[in-house]
Amino acid sequence: MILNNQFFNNFHPLPPKKEHEHSNVKSQSHSIQRRRLPPRRPQHRPSSSRNSPVTTRESVPLILWALSFISLAYANGNSSSCRCQPHQSCWPSAPEWGALNSSINGHLVAVRPVAAVCHEGNPDNPACKENWEALPEKNQTCYIETTPDTPCGQGQVSLYSALVQSAVDIQETVKFAKQHNLRLVVKNSGHDFLGRASAPGSLQILTIGMKDIRIVDKFTPAGAPEGKNEGSAVTTAAGVSLQELYAAVAARNRTVVAGSSHIVGAAGGYIQGGGHSPLGPWKGMASDNALEFTIVSANGELLVANEYQNKDLFWALRGGGGGTFGVVVSVTLRTFDEVPVILSNLNITAPVRDNKFWDTVTKLHASLPALNDAGGAGYYWIIPDFQLTKNTSVSAITLIFIFPNQTDTTQIDRIHDPLISTLNSTTGVNTQYASFAIPSLGFLFNILHPGNSDSTGKIGFLGSRLFSRDLLASTDGPGKLTSALRSIHIDPGQAILGHVVAGGAVAANSGKIDSALNPAWRKALTHIVIPRGWEPTATLAEQEAVKRNLTDVEVPILRSVEGEDTMGAYSNEANPYEAGFQASFWGENYGRLYDIKKKWDPEGLFVVRRGVGSEEWDDEWGICRVGK
Ligand SMILES: Cc1cc2nc3c(=O)[nH]c(=O)nc-3n(C[C@H](O)[C@H](O)[C@H](O)COP(=O)(O)OP(=O)(O)OC[C@H]3O[C@@H](n4cnc5c(N)ncnc54)[C@H](O)[C@@H]3O)c2cc1C
Repeated sequence: MILNNQFFNNFHPLPPKKEHEHSNVKSQSHSIQRRRLPPRRPQHRPSSSRNSPVTTRESVPLILWALSFISLAYANGNSSSCRCQPHQSCWPSAPEWGALNSSINGHLVAVRPVAAVCHEGNPDNPACKENWEALPEKNQTCYIETTPDTPCGQGQVSLYSALVQSAVDIQETVKFAKQHNLRLVVKNSGHDFLGRASAPGSLQILTIGMKDIRIVDKFTPAGAPEGKNEGSAVTTAAGVSLQELYAAVAARNRTVVAGSSHIVGAAGGYIQGGGHSPLGPWKGMASDNALEFTIVSANGELLVANEYQNKDLFWALRGGGGGTFGVVVSVTLRTFDEVPVILSNLNITAPVRDNKFWDTVTKLHASLPALNDAGGAGYYWIIPDFQLTKNTSVSAITLIFIFPNQTDTTQIDRIHDPLISTLNSTTGVNTQYASFAIPSLGFLFNILHPGNSDSTGKIGFLGSRLFSRDLLASTDGPGKLTSALRSIHIDPGQAILGHVVAGGAVAANSGKIDSALNPAWRKALTHIVIPRGWEPTATLAEQEAVKRNLTDVEVPILRSVEGEDTMGAYSNEANPYEAGFQASFWGENYGRLYDIKKKWDPEGLFVVRRGVGSEEWDDEWGICRVGK
């Protein structure tokens, strides 16, 4: 997901974005700042984590320190149906924490919210620039914008983090969490929009230090018949980012199906949720191209899952959701030959919030099937109220499409012609169009993903829906979609985001690839996202109102376009409070996923918000079982 129209900005200078503009969707990540103890004075590292290593000697004061900010709200919760919390007698003793620390080579650290440094240290510290803990449940007050004397509670940030470097480290940590009945979370980039890499009072496994990348010309899955050759493949360890993966395969003149982000992890929540990509219409979903996973299961066993062994896990890991079936140690993905690509960019303006603008939105959606049939994939931003100059606002749309393995720009221009001609014939609607032949996908990704980091770390969450090709190809479908989008209030400067990342090979893989991926992806043509958020100064009641409006009003509007049960939503970029998430995120696959979950993790060690089996745990943080 490209979160803002940064690319558009490169081509057509626009006013700089304001620091907290809500059209920049903010990740619900829970990054941590790293602090070494001793010395006690904060010492910051660029990874923006703030942890303190635990040694046997230090762990007693650390645990006391941790206890001091844990709410007693969990008092008397020492029941087998709840995870053990720090104030309870079941909580591991200092020597036990020390033993865990020794077993993972001293890589256990205590964690504080990233903004703590602004409240407890120096508010001018450069680290005070991003918010990372924003879901309203814990009444988070530890924002960089709140005054430095505002108390900085731990919120939903984990208490301890195992900075794992190997499968053995993961196994040790999983066994420890299981033995002590701890709330365990798995975190890679922490980019998750649903807050699924964090939980209060939890022990975290942080995989971001696992950076191995291996590329082979001939990959044979473990347990496959002799001579089986899946061709060129790349095996990436759990902490490799998409940016690192793209660079590694490009250096071998190869490419890989992956997402539009720098920091999102290649092996974590991205691919386990299915993984959409601008290369999807060309080669399928990222998870369609997964050949093998290595995973630590809930009982601490190290397993390989592929078409030949642990097949049910392999099925579940391709779309069934991150943090649910175990801790992925590595994933092996198909690679493809580098190819040239055409990039097209269409910018449209119309009178602000005028009928002509909404007609344009209808025409845009009606043109998507033809663009997609020509091999196109891409993103579009619909901005109903865009400030062009100090005194002028327009409604604007930016469309960026790519056409992999194509070189003839005139042919691509021709595909855009009908849309551009019809728009140009409407008074007040203006278009700018350009197309470019680009030598390689590697080159293109450098243009699409400038810099080294994503625009995240602000307060926000999403509502979304997948919309089918059938809808957009029908006579009245695009108009119905426009009516729905028009009825959702979008503030000035904010955008509705469309992702044309399905169709083509994603659709063609229906019936060919049996995986847990939401079946709606096979029928989808666009994935539409509504970003939502609030100012750091918003009261809890105001935050709740935004959340309720998204859940009870806005997402139902999106759902109503094709009917409740026709399409679903993409679990990685969806409302954290999605009603009926089982059907929305997994459709008919949910029953099978639930059975696999029960087989591999019967005690529910791995629980994530709106994940498979999470309905058996409290809705917020999966700390206590419900209904049993
Ligand atoms: C800037 C940005 C761009 C994006 N672009 C795209 C895109 O182009 N396509 C797309 O499909 N999505 C995209 N996303 C959404 C992305 O897929 C999700 O945010 C996803 O959850 C990120 O996975 P992660 O592992 O990096 O994040 P994390 O927040 O670390 O983890 C997400 C989930 O996966 C689990 N998890 C992480 N690592 C492991 C592991 N090793 N084993 C088991 N579980 C694990 C966590 O417990 C959590 O439940 C984007 C998000 C952002 C913020």
